[in-house]
Amino acid sequence: MTMPPSQPHRVVIVGAGFGGLETTYRLAGAPVEITLIDRRNHHLFQPLLYQVATASLATSEIAWPIRYLLRDRREVTTLFANVSGIDAQARQVQLEDGATVPYDTLVLATGARHAYFGHDEWEPFAPGLKTLEDATTLRRRILVAFERAERECDPERRAALLTFVIIGAGPTGVELAGTIADLAQDTLPRDFRHIDTRKARVVLIEAGTRVLAGFPDDLSAYALKSLQSLGVEVMFGEPVTDCSADGVVYGGKKLEARTIIWAAGVRASRAAEWLNAPADRAFRLKVEPDLTVPGHPDIFAVGDTTTVMDAEGNPVPGIAPAAKQQGRYVASLIKARLRGGTLPPFRYKHAGSLAQIGKRLAVIDFGRIKLRGAVAWWIWGIAHIYFLIGLRNRLSVALSWVWIHARNQRAARLITQGSSKVAR
Ligand SMILES: Cc1cc2nc3c(=O)[nH]c(=O)nc-3n(C[C@H](O)[C@H](O)[C@H](O)COP(=O)(O)OP(=O)(O)OC[C@H]3O[C@@H](n4cnc5c(N)ncnc54)[C@H](O)[C@@H]3O)c2cc1C
Repeated sequence: MTMPPSQPHRVVIVGAGFGGLETTYRLAGAPVEITLIDRRNHHLFQPLLYQVATASLATSEIAWPIRYLLRDRREVTTLFANVSGIDAQARQVQLEDGATVPYDTLVLATGARHAYFGHDEWEPFAPGLKTLEDATTLRRRILVAFERAERECDPERRAALLTFVIIGAGPTGVELAGTIADLAQDTLPRDFRHIDTRKARVVLIEAGTRVLAGFPDDLSAYALKSLQSLGVEVMFGEPVTDCSADGVVYGGKKLEARTIIWAAGVRASRAAEWLNAPADRAFRLKVEPDLTVPGHPDIFAVGDTTTVMDAEGNPVPGIAPAAKQQGRYVASLIKARLRGGTLPPFRYKHAGSLAQIGKRLAVIDFGRIKLRGAVAWWIWGIAHIYFLIGLRNRLSVALSWVWIHARNQRAARLITQGSSKVAR
């Protein structure tokens, strides 16, 4: 499909994640025609993805059809398509099916995925968490491991089925470890007859020296203590050197485990490659201070697929608020340019960092103010509910959390997409 040339300025936005959607929202009222392209039909609230993976929330509670979100915006056309390249000279986005979409201004917001540090062969044994499919795959693996342990007579094989390894102790690794421990300790014990799910081992392996390395030392120490009190075994300073169907090798030791989850390392989308643009070691496109791609003043890139420095010379973190701020800035700059003006460079404002540890605790770093424990958990919960889209999802997530707290029940304990070949 080649779109006919049109009078209003044509903005093409690739990716309807936090950065792309915010750009689209903030361009409302501007004299532009927008084409928003995404290879998925939904916008995903990734910060709560681990709760789908651990059976706490249903997929529809954290994702929304993109078309639905933009149904009232007549100037926005949504395309469900995979972008495969960019012809910057012809000003065209190339789609996988051979079609092209012309643009006057292009915004790339294609995000990132997990990276295996050159060991892509580990992915089938240690899947990561980025999409809804990843989350339901992990949920299936975790729940099937308990089911198979229930029927396993051999003690060693049963122990391997009841060992859950998480690699990487950043916020996602910590949140997964704490919630799997909760699942085994509180939710599942009464439902099984032949195993004691409380004996399940949750092992968090971190190559560095502390959990939540992006947080201040005292909050990171608190997170470690809290994880240990939930029964999570945390291993430091020993990078994983192999992942297989049988388990992991770290620090020269083999740990038999049938469920391994990868929560270490990211790799940006192929946006830099499409434009042959400069990138860092994680393939993040190095954008100019006004978030344009070097040598391409009509192409912007925002969010996890980019790297840019903040006012102190530190890289802007790969988190949702940063992607949203960048999307907001790019929309303002496009509007300013259409009026014949411009804007000063992008400035990132860090509002704070939050991470949950198990179902009742969290840590929050607001810079001068640092919070931990139950108070931090309440703020964490309210903030996440606030950032969800729509009243129905907010109510539904709040109710699911009340149920988990009051009854230890996780409503989304469903094994879907087959069951047999995931935990040997
Ligand atoms: C498990 C997990 C937990 C997280 N927790 C937090 C948290 O607690 N707090 C926080 O602030 N941040 C968190 N993050 C990070 C946050 O989600 C990202 O920083 C944010 O999503 C980045 O926004 P983005 O727009 O750059 O990319 P994304 O939101 O990833 O959106 C990219 C979009 O581009 C689309 N796309 C990619 N390639 C193509 C293509 N070739 N063609 C068409 N479409 C394409 C994708 O389908 C996707 O919709 C978490 C991330 C993960 C994975």
